[in-house]
Amino acid sequence: MPELPEVEVTRLGLAPHLEGQVVKGVVMRREGLRWPFPAGLSALLKGRRIHATGRRGKYLLIHFSHGTLIIHLGMSGHLRILKKPLAPQKHDHFDLLLADGLMRFTDPRRFGAVLWHEDDEGPVESHLLLRSLGVEPLTHPDLGAWLFTQTRMRNAAIKQVLLAGDIVVGVGNIYASESLFEAGIHPNTAAKRIARLRYDRLALAIRRVLAAAIKQGGSSLRDFIGADGQTGYFQQHYFVYDREGEPCRVCGSLVRRITQGQRSTFYCVRCQR
Ligand SMILES: [Zn+2]
Repeated sequence: MPELPEVEVTRLGLAPHLEGQVVKGVVMRREGLRWPFPAGLSALLKGRRIHATGRRGKYLLIHFSHGTLIIHLGMSGHLRILKKPLAPQKHDHFDLLLADGLMRFTDPRRFGAVLWHEDDEGPVESHLLLRSLGVEPLTHPDLGAWLFTQTRMRNAAIKQVLLAGDIVVGVGNIYASESLFEAGIHPNTAAKRIARLRYDRLALAIRRVLAAAIKQGGSSLRDFIGADGQTGYFQQHYFVYDREGEPCRVCGSLVRRITQGQRSTFYCVRCQR
């Protein structure tokens, strides 16, 4: 499943092919994915220039002068640029036609989304799907302080609080396990019991883990252009995630797995308190 780093790598890969381009039209090969495609989208976008690309959480944003196209990759979606209009395959549901090629959205499981936000309705951040998202971990000016103040009333385990996404976005299952390991915090610790300094460490770990994933993704992903330009989700070198029973890379203790909210959490009993 694409997480924040995959979405950011996708954005970085697509940006040079999208920004400044004029849209020629839109092809929608079904009614929609998770939600219906916006009615009249082709007319809305035809002849309009893409000003910029952006991202909020796992939502990719394509900004126009009159609104923003919001794309979510869902469970299995990916985007790529085709310089020639290859015949669409079964799961190619949506094309954004450009003067020079097209951007194709492929989504086998169809949990993805393509939505339109009109600027008249306010800033895109006020969109129903974006307004209650937590802060961006990579750009927030003081993530440690923010995590600390926002968790004073939260009894839930820190792992669950990170996953909830209402305080900070982008710390999915893998990155929660990895950043809690790096910060030395046991995933079951009640969020409100964690001191300010430990949140500073956690904030640093979250940023480092996400930035490393983006960096690695950017270098390991194949091109975003071409027939087989599969933007597959990258495998990384994890400290604890998916390593149950294997030795901790720091202390050699065996990595343990517990279930929290029906998701697996991996941690080291010695390194994390
Ligand atoms: Zn350890």
